[in-house]
Amino acid sequence: MESHHKVIIMGSGPAGLTAAIYTARANLNPLVLEGLQPGGQLTITTEVENYPGFPNGILGPELMNLFRKQAERFNANLLNKEVTKVNFSKKPFRIITDDDIEYTADAVIIATGASAKLLGLESEKKYMGYGVSACATCDSFFFRNLKVAVVGGGDTALEEALFLTRFASRVTVIHRRDKFRASKILQERASKNPKIHFIWNSIIEEIIGKEEHGKKSVTGLKLKNVTNGQISEHPVDGLFIAIGHQPNTKIFRGQVEMDEKGYIKTKPKSTATNIEGVFAAGDVADSVYRQAISAAGSGCMAAIDAERYLESLHD
Ligand code: NAP
Repeated sequence: MESHHKVIIMGSGPAGLTAAIYTARANLNPLVLEGLQPGGQLTITTEVENYPGFPNGILGPELMNLFRKQAERFNANLLNKEVTKVNFSKKPFRIITDDDIEYTADAVIIATGASAKLLGLESEKKYMGYGVSACATCDSFFFRNLKVAVVGGGDTALEEALFLTRFASRVTVIHRRDKFRASKILQERASKNPKIHFIWNSIIEEIIGKEEHGKKSVTGLKLKNVTNGQISEHPVDGLFIAIGHQPNTKIFRGQVEMDEKGYIKTKPKSTATNIEGVFAAGDVADSVYRQAISAAGSGCMAAIDAERYLESLHD
């Protein structure tokens, strides 16, 4: 089975849904393949305080719901499917989804975003979902009155640490350097919070846990101080990983040009990739700003670029 579309948008975060609003309003009847996490990363955050237009803040999932409603108001077609394969070597472009349906499109907007990075430890794999998590807003609830640690030194780490203080009895932020890269305002809030403690210059060598009656749980962390090599153990009931993100571009390998980290390369002042008719917007092509508002802005740019490209086919 095959269905043809003028524009297919992959991803449904701020970039994908803004591209959907713009292409829908341009009468291009976009098909949006939402991906594994409809609404994207904002659906696993809580309060968004820096999205313009919401002076009192707005919950991430609520904001994405509004994006979605706005796209649907102009008849964008949103499907809850994941793309498993693409072929951009011939036109029309081919896209296959997890239910083995093949879609074709004259223009494609890639807005598949980014996902949380992991430490890469065996023990992290073992205890993922059993005390190890990459999403405080999803899993904080399980750590009521327990001790947790957050690894990382950026905005995400401190935001997650602050959020966790609502549930946990103690939150320790473990950072590999002696300075945070997080914004001053978050650093200030974290250092003023009596539940938050800091361990500097340290990396996690191992997550320690136990298995009782077939149930795994985390009991502590083996830490190494990178300045003096000292090994220590820090007892915790949970660990939240907040060490940044990686672009969701695995399925585009060999199809479009990417940088060494896997971010899709776009032309200067454009969302065009090296393949004519394929555009990229949002975190999938942005390792620098990574904000909801900048993703939405580039989604708008991608829609306009796609629209102009489709018009040029008729010249
Ligand atoms: P990030 O800024 O890239 O920070 C990642 C942190 O994790 C860094 O402190 C880094 O240490 C550490 N790290 C990386 N790999 C590690 C490893 N293998 N082991 C231990 N530590 C490791 O990522 P982020 O905090 O997710 O933020 C991403 C972007 O989103 C930023 O632009 C941020 O401003 C933005 N953001 C904004 C908000 C907000 O405005 N409210 C909230 C969340 C995120 P080093 O510092 O040593 O490199």
